[in-house]
Amino acid sequence: MAKKSHSHHDRPHRHHYDAEMLSVEEARQRILSYFDVLSVEHVPLVEALGQVLAEDMVASFNIPPMANSAMDGYAVLAADTNGASKATPVELPVTGVVAAGALPDHELAPGTAVRIMTGAPVPPGADSVVPFEDTDELERQKSSDSPSSIGIHLEAQPLDNIREAGEDVELGETVLTKGQSLRPGEIGVIASLGRSTVPVVRRPVVAIVSTGDELLEPGEAHQPGKIYNSNAFSIAAMVSRCGGVPKIMGIARDTVESLEAALEEAMNSDLVVTSAGVSKGDYDVVKDVLSSRGEIALWSVRMRPAKPLAFGVLEDEDGSKVPHLGLPGNPVSAMVAFEQFGRSALRLMMGKPETAKPTVDAVMDDPIMNHDGRRVYARVQVYKDEQGGYRARSTGNQSSGVLSSMALANGLAICPDDIGMIDVGETARVELLDWADDIF
Ligand code: AMP
Ligand code: MG
Repeated sequence: MAKKSHSHHDRPHRHHYDAEMLSVEEARQRILSYFDVLSVEHVPLVEALGQVLAEDMVASFNIPPMANSAMDGYAVLAADTNGASKATPVELPVTGVVAAGALPDHELAPGTAVRIMTGAPVPPGADSVVPFEDTDELERQKSSDSPSSIGIHLEAQPLDNIREAGEDVELGETVLTKGQSLRPGEIGVIASLGRSTVPVVRRPVVAIVSTGDELLEPGEAHQPGKIYNSNAFSIAAMVSRCGGVPKIMGIARDTVESLEAALEEAMNSDLVVTSAGVSKGDYDVVKDVLSSRGEIALWSVRMRPAKPLAFGVLEDEDGSKVPHLGLPGNPVSAMVAFEQFGRSALRLMMGKPETAKPTVDAVMDDPIMNHDGRRVYARVQVYKDEQGGYRARSTGNQSSGVLSSMALANGLAICPDDIGMIDVGETARVELLDWADDIF
């Protein structure tokens, strides 16, 4: 697309610039309408944790492949042990040994036993395994490493300590279904099917651009008047936690040229996240740059923190398009807004259900004030009192610039937009930041 150089007066999307007031849900639904599930890739099993399975997994053999022993012991015919007890052992000649991974070299003849290890195939003719503990092997081993006969101390039943062929997975069975998130259990099952790679929805690549003349990169020398770029790192960590791949693009300065250059680099991604420059003071630069590269909407979301939010679609010279989420600059606002909007977009791209953070209802130790009819997300520490009920205490200064109170929080307590305050002793719903693993 040729770059446009509209003035403020002839832009096609001018009506967007009067920041619309949206609820969190309205903003989220509008944002999600711009996303689709990403394409499928085949990845090594070790990399697939948290990705969504793109095909059913069907077993092409039984697991276990053949009946095998669940214990170290002696394979026998159960009927041969009738009447056995510790006082009156049944003695059987031992005709061989089967180790795990080996195949039996002979059938078990009635009236005999075969020494067998856990996981070893049960010899044909045997229908039961008697564990070492229920034999006199220990006493016999004092004289010989592999005794030539064995005393059985109990009456074995058919199928005792035998794992049957296909008892885990049967040939032809659909073991895992397309759309499932891969947790450690599923990954183990896929390995048990003999597969080293797995078809999954690929991970979204998220380019992260910080904007601001005041920013230094961590690692640079501290300078008067400057602050470190923390947003890029908290956002990158949230992206990783959702299963995405963060690409930190560095800092754009508050000039058209600098932001243009940074966005150019960021286009090779599934989502561009910028921080700062969407509030009143300096959003003109960001607004102009973004609108010249595509579509942009500036919204006022009825939430605190994180009221100002930009969302749009960036378009390259060659016409390729990438959605853009413009987070506010204040560090807590950036994080809270990413939790509400970025996380949902990443889940959608990865093929996962839209799932809210888990919540608990907690009795407040501190009040949550709501001055202006927005939904308040208050940083809190949730804990259990002596009776086992949930309580929540404020983590301190709730200014959107105070990132340390975010680090202390394990939840965001919500005061609804139409309630003026939640007082001490009243119950608030708390979205838990740390409970469920987000990658699933
Ligand atoms: P702005 O939206 O540019 O007005 O920024 C709002 C506030 O967020 C200002 O105090 C900025 O200094 C701060 N801020 C902006 N970007 C970052 C960042 N990457 N890391 C930490 N603080 C930031
Ligand atoms: Mg700024």
